[in-house]
Amino acid sequence: MRFVIAAGLLALGVLRAVHAQETPGSDTEVSYFSFFDGWATDPSTLDATERFLEPKTKVKCDPSTLVVYHSKQLRYGVLAHPEFVERLQKFEGLLIEQSIAHYGRAPRRLLHKGAFSCRSQHARKERISEHALGNAIDVLGFELGPLPRGAVAPADMPRHMRRGTSVRVRLHWSPRTERDAYHARFLHALTESVRARPDIFRGIVGPPRPRHHDHLHFDAAPWRYAMFGYDPS
Ligand SMILES: [Zn+2]
Repeated sequence: MRFVIAAGLLALGVLRAVHAQETPGSDTEVSYFSFFDGWATDPSTLDATERFLEPKTKVKCDPSTLVVYHSKQLRYGVLAHPEFVERLQKFEGLLIEQSIAHYGRAPRRLLHKGAFSCRSQHARKERISEHALGNAIDVLGFELGPLPRGAVAPADMPRHMRRGTSVRVRLHWSPRTERDAYHARFLHALTESVRARPDIFRGIVGPPRPRHHDHLHFDAAPWRYAMFGYDPS
């Protein structure tokens, strides 16, 4: 099976090279299309799980390995692998840190499209999705309550964001108005900070990747990769 994985990685390397040629960059555009960003250094029991399907077979899942997790810090719950839950808890810490830095308070709700989903990858049917292992989450955005009395928001935060506000990848990743640009900065900073912390997640997929216009996919695949891009202006 090592051969299959090696062949898969070789294919990824080729894809990476092809994509680099096809993706025109500008001086201002921040773009990460790295299909293989190095092996993960923090071991996970799921690293040994086969990720490639034998020809003409379907994904089999074992929900008995999963747990229902309800966050104590943010209002959301998911069905996921216990090791991924530990990663989610670390992510919540980072998210709260970034949210306080941008909005003066933590989000009260994380909006998502689920963690566990028994399926192969949409783009590559021979590859088992990390979602099938309960090892990924698709984050749609966040809801924030009003700025609490006594809390300090950054001076450049638009005034209307002192009221309750909602940040959505679909609406705010590529801002159309100055009002939305502040949310975009938060989403981009959050994603960059996740990328800088491989002990939290290993794989990131977001806009402008196909099928990822409305969410950020975070997973703990055996290797590191980042596929997202944005215009910072
Ligand atoms: Zn996903």
